[in-house]
Amino acid sequence: MENVYGIEYSKPEVVLLQDTGIGVAEAAARTCYDSFTNSENDVIKEIEHVMPDEEMCDSLNAIEDSNLLDDLAWTYFHHSILEHANLSFLIRGTSRGVLQEHARHRIQAISVRSTRYTMSSIINAFVAAKVGDDKEFFITKVLTFNMFVTSNEAYNKIEINTIYEKLAYQTQTVDDFYSIAVAKSSLPFLEQIKNAEELFKALQDGKKKRNVGDAFKHIISDNVKVDMVVTFNLRSLKNYFTLRESGAAYFQIRWLAQEMMRVTPSKYLDLIIKKKS
Ligand SMILES: Cc1cc2nc3c(=O)[nH]c(=O)nc-3n(C[C@H](O)[C@H](O)[C@H](O)COP(=O)(O)OP(=O)(O)OC[C@H]3O[C@@H](n4cnc5c(N)ncnc54)[C@H](O)[C@@H]3O)c2cc1C
Repeated sequence: MENVYGIEYSKPEVVLLQDTGIGVAEAAARTCYDSFTNSENDVIKEIEHVMPDEEMCDSLNAIEDSNLLDDLAWTYFHHSILEHANLSFLIRGTSRGVLQEHARHRIQAISVRSTRYTMSSIINAFVAAKVGDDKEFFITKVLTFNMFVTSNEAYNKIEINTIYEKLAYQTQTVDDFYSIAVAKSSLPFLEQIKNAEELFKALQDGKKKRNVGDAFKHIISDNVKVDMVVTFNLRSLKNYFTLRESGAAYFQIRWLAQEMMRVTPSKYLDLIIKKKS
């Protein structure tokens, strides 16, 4: 948690899901220069003489250091070699504000939790509150969803109140709000149950309406949490860390870059981050 300009923010969590190792990058570079025998890594020396079998590939992918990669990265700037190493990160709890900056990095694979499929609990809480004439229920319930990177309760209540007002506005501008908000099979609950908590439970237990998010994406702000899985090659990761770990970057994306850097093993960082002397 960090207080920035009077607002408390939670920080993103990051796990390194997979990394390919640096052996392929050295083998690729050695292929360019036909210099396998110069390697300090025995398995790479052997590739001069034989096509690697499965066991050799495992050893290759486990190498921890490479003098050649170090030279190419820091002396000769032969950075395309670094594209042979890839790292995949699971990211939880960054924000939509960060997402729009993060997604500008074109050289990555990125898969993001869809609002389309994750909005139904908010909509169900709104429908229950509206039918039950209990706005406080909506605010209290949505607070428990822990959906914002901002964490001051009073501030988040403003966010949630705004969501409520936007949806309430929409109830006046579409002909049949409830038919776009809940599954057809749940519509009878709206007549049968007038208590907000009980109606919410019935809607949550009932069939989920497909693609409910499309009609309601407009309600959420940049502060809503986002989860994603991203895969970078090492060259692109160098560019990402240079641009986003910098003091010039937006503080929330800097937190993300710092956390990604924290879980990146040193065999990669040594090739892309200049050591402070
Ligand atoms: C401090 C900061 C402030 C920013 N402010 C703004 C802003 O006000 N408005 C805004 O729109 N954006 C802004 N950006 C985003 C920035 O312009 C880039 O879109 C973003 O940082 C992605 O960087 P990138 O293009 O290097 O990354 P990637 O898209 O991952 O590209 C990686 C590298 O590949 C090469 N590359 C990729 N695509 C091409 C291509 N088509 N042609 C040639 N080379 C290519 C380049 O060398 C590039 O550096 C800001 C970024 C930072 C860090």
